[in-house]
Amino acid sequence: MNKLLSSLKALVSVGTCTSLAAITFFAPICSPLISISAQQKRKSVQTKQETVKLRVADQQARQRANALLAQMTLAEKIGQLNQLFFFSSLQKEESMNDGIRKGEIGSLLFVTDPATINRFQKIAVSESRLKIPLIFGFDVIHGFHTIFPVPIAMAASWDPKMVERAQTVAAREARAAGINWTFAPMVDIARDPRWGRIVEGSGEDPYLGAAMSRAQVRGFQGDRIGSPEHLLACVKHFAGYGAAEGGRDYDAANISDAQLWNVYLPPFKAAVDAGVGSVMSAYMDLNDVPATGNRWLLRDVLRKDWKFGGFVVSDADSVNDLKTHGFARDSQDAAVKALTAGVNMEMSFNATVYRKNLANAVKQNQVSIRDIDDMVRPLLETKIKLGLFENPYVDEAKVKSIFENPAHREAAKTAAERSAVLLKNQNNLLPLSKTAYKKIAVIGPLADSRQNTLGSWSLAMDINETSTILAGLKTKLGTGTQVEFAPGVQIGRIVPSVFDMTLKEKHPPAWTEVQAANEFKKAVALAKDSDIALMVLGENQDMSGEQASRSTLDLPGRQLELVQAVVAAGKPVVVVLINGRPLDITWVAQNVPSILEAWYPGSEGGNAIAELLFGDAVPGGKLPFTWIKHAGQIPLYYSHNLTQNPGEQEKRYWHEKAVPLYPFGYGLSYTTFAFSNLKVNQPEIKIGASVEVTVDVKNTGTRAGDEVVQLYIHQQAGGASRPIRELKGFERVALAAGETKTARFKLGPDELRYWNASTKAWVQEAENFDVWVGNDSSASLHSTFRVTQ
Ligand code: BGC
Repeated sequence: MNKLLSSLKALVSVGTCTSLAAITFFAPICSPLISISAQQKRKSVQTKQETVKLRVADQQARQRANALLAQMTLAEKIGQLNQLFFFSSLQKEESMNDGIRKGEIGSLLFVTDPATINRFQKIAVSESRLKIPLIFGFDVIHGFHTIFPVPIAMAASWDPKMVERAQTVAAREARAAGINWTFAPMVDIARDPRWGRIVEGSGEDPYLGAAMSRAQVRGFQGDRIGSPEHLLACVKHFAGYGAAEGGRDYDAANISDAQLWNVYLPPFKAAVDAGVGSVMSAYMDLNDVPATGNRWLLRDVLRKDWKFGGFVVSDADSVNDLKTHGFARDSQDAAVKALTAGVNMEMSFNATVYRKNLANAVKQNQVSIRDIDDMVRPLLETKIKLGLFENPYVDEAKVKSIFENPAHREAAKTAAERSAVLLKNQNNLLPLSKTAYKKIAVIGPLADSRQNTLGSWSLAMDINETSTILAGLKTKLGTGTQVEFAPGVQIGRIVPSVFDMTLKEKHPPAWTEVQAANEFKKAVALAKDSDIALMVLGENQDMSGEQASRSTLDLPGRQLELVQAVVAAGKPVVVVLINGRPLDITWVAQNVPSILEAWYPGSEGGNAIAELLFGDAVPGGKLPFTWIKHAGQIPLYYSHNLTQNPGEQEKRYWHEKAVPLYPFGYGLSYTTFAFSNLKVNQPEIKIGASVEVTVDVKNTGTRAGDEVVQLYIHQQAGGASRPIRELKGFERVALAAGETKTARFKLGPDELRYWNASTKAWVQEAENFDVWVGNDSSASLHSTFRVTQ
């Protein structure tokens, strides 16, 4: 109850419910506090009724699917297993129509125009023999029309409720456009930031990753598959993609069983437990067996152990890639191996391995009709549960008003504010006074780039609706302050990204050498001539994402030189970072007084960052990964095992300290906090029981702010060496100046067990445990408890 009240207060205090539109949209969250207990009772009765209804709905869906299956030809069944890309800029609609009419296509992806969706759907539901609707999929990763901060940013909010609301908005907009299915959440644990796709996930930690995974599934799907205004979610990339060797995208992952169970799989399990309806199999080899042909992963773990009842879609062309891996002899072998491993639907550009080969495979008894039926059934059940048979079309007239709902922009702004992480703030340079600076220099290649404010997987938005940091500052400061901009340098990839064809704002033409020299000088002169320089540095959005891995993590181009020259100009400097991974910013961290991590903050990014810089919002985000000093330290993550001579952990290299620039969980505020009164309610518990850990957190400063209370444990001995620390609880707490709150955590079997590599099973052991609580992974407030038989 207390927790509910405090999170409600937190919601109100961060402004989630400020505008009328927001109140309407989030009405259930913002209703009066007094009726909470009655509401809770009603909710629990409702939940029981819902569960019964759900089971009935499941059974009905099963019956309807079986009845349909009984009428389907083999070709029609195989058709349902086939998903094709459709790019309106590259393909003609007619090229798809015949296949849809013949029932050879079960799903299309990348169609985002509602009218086109309706035209395709009309052929499926009125011209195909069995009138089975298509399911339309799309990568709704961090927003659809309104773009939210990238997933790594939202993980940095440490605020699952906010993340759930963000994905609720994304679902609502995508569903309004006719999309039924998102390929998200992406929950790959990434401990190697050279891997570009770290930006799409929740970072290095399985506990934080699992919390974000659950929140996103709830946001996308609502309380069941088929909730109005929601989507089918698809957790990806199952599994281990984030451990690609060398951080090189698509390279093999070699992960020990213990690491797989304890680190890489928990966010997937969390999604399955939250009811995710689909799973995407990964591209790469996992311990020598390609994930898309990995029977152990897709059947033994996912379906038998976790009881997953939805369907699996391959990543793009990864069925065909089974040949490339040297795993399948030919296309037919690839189709058989993927299908028998447990891939229901093949996502394909044009290889269509299933469509071309499964009939032969049946003829030659390599797969049975029953195998095919088992793969088709969950797809049909999903289409039934989504209501596609009853409501196959999208209401084109409603799209605009849903896209234009101001509550969506408000939610995106709140998300960007809550995701930002204050990395450094010497002498409280931030927040800036609105009146102290007459002329402000805004410098850097990312300060006024709309595309780069949004981040990768921003595809269906109106680019003109993006607030860049320059625009946000101008709006905030009005005419009273002179805000001047100079990019200073240009940055760009050496090898262009294939995804650049989707850009709505093309890269500007490259400067000549003379222009480059002039622009650099202009920026430095502007800094000299201003009262303060706000520099916006980092990576273009195509430098961070799929096919965007790097072997170094320095600031691309001449950005370091630029910041050095601007600092030398002698005015106060604030660096705002736009990026999706830790970068080598050691010089900046030593020489620039204030650094704000803004990530790719989305449509409202500029407005949100302006609020933060001028103190109308207070940073409260925390790093979801260890911020390394340079790429040579990788992998470096907080939750490593205790090694020989742990006291000298820092001396692992002879020429420099083996410590990060900033630890996992780190982030500052404009106020300060103190932790005290750490209590574990029982010194000893039996295996299977729980302890309660409480700690007081006080806002010791003079302004309101949020602190993320983090709880870490360590099992001191047992049947395996356990990590030095593991996150096992967190709560983002809003505190007024001077206010104290008590945070409560439960540590029970779920938190205390681990997967043991010698018994090859989950175990909970009778051992001593350390507990630390604080505001990052180096927390020092300590206690212990014991678990006994
Ligand atoms: C990516 C997936 C994505 C799919 C469809 C693939 O290249 O790995 O994450 O969902 O394309 O766009």
